Amino acid sequence: MKRNSHFEFIIAGQGLAGSILAWYLIKANRTVLVIEDTSLQSATSVASGLMHPVTGRRIVKSWRADEFIPNAVKLYQDIEQELNKRFYYNTPILEIYHDHGNRNDWMNRSVTSGIGEFIGTDYNADELPKSLNAPFGALELKHTGWLNATQFKMDMKRWLEEKNAYSEGTIDYHSLEKNETHFQFHDLTFEKLIDCRGYYSMLSKSWSYLPFNPAKGEEIVFTSDADLWKDFIYHNTFKIIPSEESEFRFGATYTWNDTSNDITSDAREKLINGLSSLLDAPFTVIGQRAGIRPATKDRRPFMGEHPIEKNHFIFNGLGSKGISAAPTLAKEMLDFLLHAEKINPEYALERFTFPGY
Ligand SMILES: Cc1cc2nc3c(=O)[nH]c(=O)nc-3n(C[C@H](O)[C@H](O)[C@H](O)COP(=O)(O)OP(=O)(O)OC[C@H]3O[C@@H](n4cnc5c(N)ncnc54)[C@H](O)[C@@H]3O)c2cc1C
Repeated sequence: MKRNSHFEFIIAGQGLAGSILAWYLIKANRTVLVIEDTSLQSATSVASGLMHPVTGRRIVKSWRADEFIPNAVKLYQDIEQELNKRFYYNTPILEIYHDHGNRNDWMNRSVTSGIGEFIGTDYNADELPKSLNAPFGALELKHTGWLNATQFKMDMKRWLEEKNAYSEGTIDYHSLEKNETHFQFHDLTFEKLIDCRGYYSMLSKSWSYLPFNPAKGEEIVFTSDADLWKDFIYHNTFKIIPSEESEFRFGATYTWNDTSNDITSDAREKLINGLSSLLDAPFTVIGQRAGIRPATKDRRPFMGEHPIEKNHFIFNGLGSKGISAAPTLAKEMLDFLLHAEKINPEYALERFTFPGY
């Protein structure tokens, strides 16, 4: 089928943000083309994919977790059904207690911090798998899961191709020709540009005024015959996610002073040490990968239209919880684009002052 040469929307970047927003726009019968620069790194390609309802040692409910997680599960399952693919796993998390105090904190916070619906069985150490080093026991968190984000990105690319809505290339607002009504990109014309370039948006002239706080993350892939319960994610500082038969992912680190895509020996060492203290069984590291989380200084996304560049939008800043947040936020972005609904001031662009060029 011949591709259109005019689109209402062009989305720059086919990570999680671009893929989900494109899904909604296509479902709303809008013409959209996603342009992806495959030579660049993508957080989505390396994300551990976990949807965790709690943040930090203080055991605080993650931002809008009770809304984001069920919405995300529903969307990923809907997409799986339409694509006839599998990338979402409804897997409980075993939160491994650090010490007795941590166990007490979890017990208290499960009542007071609004996470009650996620709390499952409380396990003593002798009830847990033998290969797990969890002397203080562990708590099951229910209604959570993980997205095989690498697979999701690949499957969404194929789906977009089938819809004639995908193209490889590199696009930036400042290299486009523009007139009153449309933008020109090679042989294409379009009306609105949505920037979903993850970390790379912060390097562009248009968005450099936004306070990004990119956080590099690395994980390792390992094999082991450890006696672990299948279909559980194990979490204390890092997490073990079972991916294939006898194959697991373990991560991820946080580094704020390195925005290269390179894997590092420092991270490998940290991860191997972390895994050795969690797993009482031999393992073999078979891979390591790195990516940059598009995090922001105030830990809220960036959504809206550029203050002076008309028809230039951004949907970005998904940070370290993008897997659960993206489905709800992409829907809000859709309502803003199509129905002029207001974006919540907590993450609207208007919370920042544009200094001009
Ligand atoms: C190691 C690691 C572990 C993580 N684990 C989790 C987790 O367990 N749970 C969770 O919720 N989140 C996790 N995250 C965060 C999650 O990955 C991100 O929130 C999410 O993937 C961000 O998606 P995005 O689409 O905004 O960015 P990206 O996935 O980075 O996508 C941006 C895309 O834009 C493309 N691009 C860039 N410039 C251009 C251009 N000029 N033209 C065209 N295309 C361009 C890039 O190629 C890229 O594909 C993790 C991230 C990392 C790095």
